[in-house]
Amino acid sequence: MDSRIVFPGDFLTTAEEFVAGKNTYEDVSGRIYAATVGSAQFDLGKREVSVEKDGREIELLEVGAIIEGVVIMLKPQAAIIEIYAAEKDGRKLNIQQSIGAVPISLVSRGYVTTMDTKFRIGDLIRAKVEVITAYSVDSSTADAELGVIRAYCTKCRDVLGLFDSQLKCINCGNVEQRKFSTLYTLKY
Ligand SMILES: [Zn+2]
Repeated sequence: MDSRIVFPGDFLTTAEEFVAGKNTYEDVSGRIYAATVGSAQFDLGKREVSVEKDGREIELLEVGAIIEGVVIMLKPQAAIIEIYAAEKDGRKLNIQQSIGAVPISLVSRGYVTTMDTKFRIGDLIRAKVEVITAYSVDSSTADAELGVIRAYCTKCRDVLGLFDSQLKCINCGNVEQRKFSTLYTLKY
């Protein structure tokens, strides 16, 4: 086994090379990333990549923290996200609970009728933690710098670019709607 220290969101490998194991996640394009701080383990026998937590002392997720996550499920009343990174005042935080939600009431300032005009499965989003309970981490994307930071075309799965205030597929030209962030990663 080969191993190295990785951080949440670090690219590990692709699904063509390895299966995504413990503490990793795969995006729609088959790229596998670390979901926690730890050492990446590449099991060449099982062709599986996982991340072992290294047990170091880091601060816990808290209200007001800014998180990044992947939308893994859309429900009528919420987007379910897998959180892969969190920070508060520039400090990286530990993620003790990696699944969270953006309830429909916290998506944007205006009234939202359907979640799929705001988020799609596979989108990367930036959000602010509002409520932490034993069962959930609820976050908001209402502020301008919050929302989708990277999105993929629902037709061809290539990445969407931000052209002025419109998200358009850089491959097929499909125009899509999202609640996107001013920090969207691919601007033209
Ligand atoms: Zn496309």
